[in-house]
Amino acid sequence: MAYTLIKCGRLYDGLVDAIQEQMEILVEDNRIKEVGKKVSAPAGAEVIDLSKFTVTPGLIDAHVHLGIGRWPERRRETVYENPAYKGMMVLANAREAMLRGFTTLRVVGNNCDEGYGSIVSKRLINSGYFEGARLVVASCYTGTTRSHADTTALFATYPDVATWVWERYPGFISGAESMRECIRQQAKFGADFIKLYATGGFSTPADGPEDECLTDEEMKAAIDTAHQLNLKITSHSYTPDLIRKQVEMGIDGIEHGALLDDRDLLQMMIERGVELVPTFCPYDGIVYQDDATIKQWPYEMQIKLRKYGEWLIRARKAIVESGIAFGYGTDFVASHHCYECGYEYETMIKSGVDPFRALAAATRVNKNILEMPEDIGAVAPGYLADIAAWRRDLLTDPKALLDCAFVMKDGVVYQAKTVE
Ligand SMILES: [Zn+2]
Repeated sequence: MAYTLIKCGRLYDGLVDAIQEQMEILVEDNRIKEVGKKVSAPAGAEVIDLSKFTVTPGLIDAHVHLGIGRWPERRRETVYENPAYKGMMVLANAREAMLRGFTTLRVVGNNCDEGYGSIVSKRLINSGYFEGARLVVASCYTGTTRSHADTTALFATYPDVATWVWERYPGFISGAESMRECIRQQAKFGADFIKLYATGGFSTPADGPEDECLTDEEMKAAIDTAHQLNLKITSHSYTPDLIRKQVEMGIDGIEHGALLDDRDLLQMMIERGVELVPTFCPYDGIVYQDDATIKQWPYEMQIKLRKYGEWLIRARKAIVESGIAFGYGTDFVASHHCYECGYEYETMIKSGVDPFRALAAATRVNKNILEMPEDIGAVAPGYLADIAAWRRDLLTDPKALLDCAFVMKDGVVYQAKTVE
């Protein structure tokens, strides 16, 4: 048995909304054994002094796409990079996120044709061949032609090429039977959950956030098949009408919901336990009228975001004021590198979210979304030793989660990095 004694200046344990001063954590191998003011560390335990920092559980990001390298080149990489590159970028980004204090990531698919690279990456990390955040994976985008999932729209000027790729990509469907087969295939090859694309979106060239991209039959087939196979299913969706339809059909989760300004529907989601991962940060350029940020985006994305500006602001307010226990997710494919997960905290605080609600989102709410109920997301006896420490004050500094001072995953210490 190897023992590590961690001395914390301050501790947020992921279980209660409080910061405790001068706490100790005893780690035995890869699990937390004891937490308290004074723990009973055996002689010879390694001592790690984090007395200058605030310690938290290793954090969880519930909405990442890891298959790209540099976000400003996302479209180029989507079109010109091959599946092996995208699969290996998943590994690289999983490591970069972990070093910044996010030790678990929920991968909600990849841009195009990396296929099952995220599942392979998860296996390689779990078996110790590579360092990285633990991954919970939806292998593919699941959606129809010209939906937000259909990234072959990026090269729609060359229909032969776009169609050739479309036919090889495992997540594209047409019709209810095709949907059922697609979900069974993903389950067969190891998907942990299913990611559905019910609407268009902002960052793609052709579709829009109000577009309804599935027939009712396709939507129902997706939800029923996922549930038959005991998989959760979560849906990229924006407008209240379409979200309500899916909630009534039994969807488990909604991603983004950035136009969800219907307070009755938010209440209905709370009552039915429908999970929401709102991914606030990528819309900040519009919500806070930051022209420099907006101008970095592709032209048609700027047009779409400007068109929906007021609706986005109204919906964010409704979500924050609703009291829904939303998850913490970044969705950084178009505004930051996908491993810079701490930016969502800054946005949440700026949007009026209480710091403890934001911290709960990145710990105990997300661990339930990921269906890892007892192992991660808390500094408490029996939990895996996923632990991070931060230089700045979490309760007063919105940039606190950009400045990681220490990270341990599964009992192993890594060299922490800050977001530049
Ligand atoms: Zn996304």
